[in-house]
Order: sequence, then structure tokens, then C-alpha cells
Amino acid sequence: MRESDMIDHRRLGRELELFVSDPLAGAGLPIWLPAGAAARHAVEEYVRELERRAGYQHVYSPPLGKRELFERSGHLGYFADDMFPPMRLSADDEFVLRPALCPHHALVFGARGRSYRELPLRVAELGGMYRAERSGVLGGLSRVRAISLNDAHNFCALEQVGAEVAEILRLIREAHAALGVRPAGFRLSVRGPGQRYVGDDAQWARAEELLRDALAGVEYEVAPGDAAFYGPKIDIQIVDGRGRESTLATVQLDFDKPERFDLAYIDRDGARRRPVMVHRSLVGSMERLFAYLIEVHEGAFPAWYAPVQLAVLPVDAGQAGAAADLARRAEAAGLRVEIDAAGSLGGRIRDAARRRIPYAAVVGAREAADGRVSLRLRDGRVLDPLPVADALALVGDVVASRTGQLLPG
Ligand SMILES: [Zn+2]
Repeated sequence: MRESDMIDHRRLGRELELFVSDPLAGAGLPIWLPAGAAARHAVEEYVRELERRAGYQHVYSPPLGKRELFERSGHLGYFADDMFPPMRLSADDEFVLRPALCPHHALVFGARGRSYRELPLRVAELGGMYRAERSGVLGGLSRVRAISLNDAHNFCALEQVGAEVAEILRLIREAHAALGVRPAGFRLSVRGPGQRYVGDDAQWARAEELLRDALAGVEYEVAPGDAAFYGPKIDIQIVDGRGRESTLATVQLDFDKPERFDLAYIDRDGARRRPVMVHRSLVGSMERLFAYLIEVHEGAFPAWYAPVQLAVLPVDAGQAGAAADLARRAEAAGLRVEIDAAGSLGGRIRDAARRRIPYAAVVGAREAADGRVSLRLRDGRVLDPLPVADALALVGDVVASRTGQLLPG
């Protein structure tokens, strides 16, 4: 078996029942199965909480909107090749599956008058968007047509941009450390020849200078031609199991959309000023993120987002009551737990390890009698029997600390 097969997220996704791609549903439109959805849910909750503590406000907005919204944003002018064709409901009512969340978030900022006191205003959403990828390039979760993006738009005064970008880079590092993402490098993506961009040269030069300042002390390469159509960006790159590089996290500066949507705030001196719009994603889309996480962890996710965290294995039917009691207590402690009672104990231990379940709790007659449990880790280590409360506290500590290790530090 070639190394590339060993760590292909599509094979592991099938074996671990994380997601399925069904030709009847369509290429590039994977379906998340319960195990994959449980892991994704844990990651989404974590990211939302991280953002909330960092001063972000979460919104919901629809994944489609009127054609005029995307004419105004510039997407239909500059990005139409990557979009699904508009859907016509009637002669003057056409809708577009959105290729980005920015237009809706510009409307959030513009929903009422804004004061300088509200800046930076950080609007976040884990939202759906669409790309009309050609079927030849689609595969598993890494290239899809329906995308769930961890996105935010931070509206700042110009003098706030440097500190805001630096804080975003700090959040990116924190999220990547918790998830076990190992970035391959930082890139400053700037304009290149042969492509169309909005905005004037002075805007682009100023935006590029702000991003270079934010990258002071960080090693990065410059990627001409990889800028967004509206501005330069910092991209944090990852490399998949086949050595292909892609962008996971990104920070982009945009002077253009605030103009297009006529966004303004009232400054300290009473003047009406345009905010700068910073587009950012800490962990990219859930699809690309999980394609990467499945491969980099070979399916053995850190315990905090493992689909099942604890398998309870009674040695025989005599311990059914003790096993059910343990599972109830684990569930009450917030853990994702399963009881596996069918078949030989050895087979069940192997199956838990094959499914990369971080902990298996073996309950034999002696353990059941004195309220203990024997924990086996998925890497083969076996702990001495512990009182049930201590075993649950151990697993709970590891989960709460979001470490990649299976034992407390
Ligand atoms: Zn955006």
C-alpha cells in the first residue's frame, strides 16, 4: 500500500463512517454521517466559543439572495465563473446561491447607524456558500460545491486595522493548536498580471503595507496573483496527504465593499467615515478542515472532538447494570459514550481501537463489585483499575484541556 493511500481522508472517512458521497446526491455534495457530525459539532462549538470570548457577535443569514445583492458586491462582475447560474423565479426576481458571506455581513453593519464606539464590529457566522466546481476536481471533503465556512467580517477604523489583524493571527494560532493543525506556512497573497481587481493602486498599496506590518516577525512568502479580487490577504497554508497545498485560514483587507454598500460610522468628531472591512477565517470551511484533520490525525482525533470518547465494555452479561450505570454517569458529565456488549471482549477492544475511540472502559465482575473500571487507551496503554469517579474525571480533564494527549499532563 502506498503512503498516500494510508492517509487518504476519503478511505478513512468511509471506514470510520464520518461522511459519505452518493452520486445520487451529486458530486461535491458529501453527507456528514453521525460520527462525522459529532466531531464537527464539537469543533463548531469550540470555534463559536473562542470567537464569542474574543468579542465576535454571531449572526445567521440565508445561503441565497437576490441577484442585485451580488451585482452590488462585485461577485457577479468578478467571480461569476465560480458561481452557479442565477435561478429565475419570475421576470424580475432572480436568485443566486451565494459564493461568499460578505454581502450579507455588509448589510448587518448597515442595518442601522454606527458609531466609532462600536468599532471594531466583529460579525461572525458559520454559514453555507456555494462554488460551481467542475466535477473532475471534486473529491471527498477537500473540494466541494456546498461549503460551510467559518467566517467573520471585522469592521474597523483604519487606525485599528493593524491591531485587529494581529489579534486575528493570535486567534488562528490558538485554534490551530487546539485542533492539531500544523500549518505549512504563511503567505502574503498580492495582485498579479492577467486578472481583474477592483480598487485603485493607492488602496492596494496601503492594504499591503498594513498586512506586511502585521506579519512582522513571521516568516512568509509572497504569492503574486493569489489576492482576492477586492484586496490582498494573508493565507495560512496546509499540505494534504498527497502533498497538495491549500489555504485553510485567511485574513483579507477590503476597502471596496464598504464603498459599494455605502457603509459608514459617525466618528468622534461627528464626521461620517468609511470602515475598513477585514474578512477572516480562523479554520476555513468545515469540509476542508476535516479533510485535513482526518489525514493529519489518521482518524484518531484529539479526545475533545472524537465522535465517541468512551466505549463501555462489560466483560459479560453479569456487568450489564454496572456498564449502563457508568455510561449514564459519563453522559451526565458531558461525554459521548457508547456501550458495546456484543461479541468477544478481545474483538470489542480491537473494534474500539480500530474506530480510534480514545478510551475503552472494561468492566469485569471484580471491578463491578467494588465500583472500579479499567481504562484502556486507543494506543494500547492500560491503566490500573480506578474508581469510576476518578476515571470519568481523568477523561473529563483531558477533554476540557483540549490537548492531543490521552492522559493529563
Ligand atoms: Zn468575506
